[in-house]
Amino acid sequence: MPTKHLLKIEDLHHSFGSNQVLKGVSFSLNKGETKVIVGPSGTGKSTILNNIIRLVPPDQGKIYLEDTEITATKKINEVRQQIGFVFQDFGLFNHLTALGNIMVGLTKVKKMTKQAAAELALNELDRVGLKEFSDSYPSQLSGGQKQRVGIARALAMQPKLILFDEPTSSLDPELTGEVLKVMRNLAEDGMTMLVVTHEMGFARSVADELIFMEGGHIIEQGDPEQLFTEPVHQRTREFLFQLT
Ligand code: ADP
Ligand code: MG
Repeated sequence: MPTKHLLKIEDLHHSFGSNQVLKGVSFSLNKGETKVIVGPSGTGKSTILNNIIRLVPPDQGKIYLEDTEITATKKINEVRQQIGFVFQDFGLFNHLTALGNIMVGLTKVKKMTKQAAAELALNELDRVGLKEFSDSYPSQLSGGQKQRVGIARALAMQPKLILFDEPTSSLDPELTGEVLKVMRNLAEDGMTMLVVTHEMGFARSVADELIFMEGGHIIEQGDPEQLFTEPVHQRTREFLFQLT
């Protein structure tokens, strides 16, 4: 029987030394779905994303990408090529233009020709509204524009899903909106996305499902409107209301 989930996380545990960070986290993500994880700082949200791409391997638990158990695979580089990652601090190369930053993965990892890579990169820049900035260096771009280049770079690799780790946390409020708009469009286009954010308006209006985490556990998950209006747990209510 074909699996329905694109990503499935089962009973994830992770500790840093004696600091038990993830204490049994399970959820799954279907193709085309956007899930948003919210929760206080230090609760293990980034650790989940880092476990998925095995920047830090989980101590216990299983992660599947479609039918492949990626926690066990030896071909982690192949897995990473299928998962886009957008970080808080952009991670662009300062010596490369916007176009160059997107092309580098295409030519080096995907072995595309320069011409094909440039064409694809330009298309992705267009998709995030930055076609005119292809020759700009990161130092010539605003934070919001840099993050949109980061998203275009992830998209160009044609990933099965994209992980976002607080993509707007280092941006001024007036630049946050342009990045969230790009993300909203991607969600509407059917991209599969797992998003860690503190942007409650985005979480409420874009997420197909919202996950509230605290203390290494999922406290509550479900329809965002339900969590915002009738949360089952008092902690969910307190957390969501303190930020909206
Ligand atoms: P969140 O993203 O929810 O803010 P993190 O997953 O970044 O939380 O961190 C969870 C906990 O793990 C925190 O207590 C943090 O200090 C700790 N931690 C994260 N990364 C490391 C690391 N590389 N080494 C040691 N402790 C870490
Ligand atoms: Mg984090």
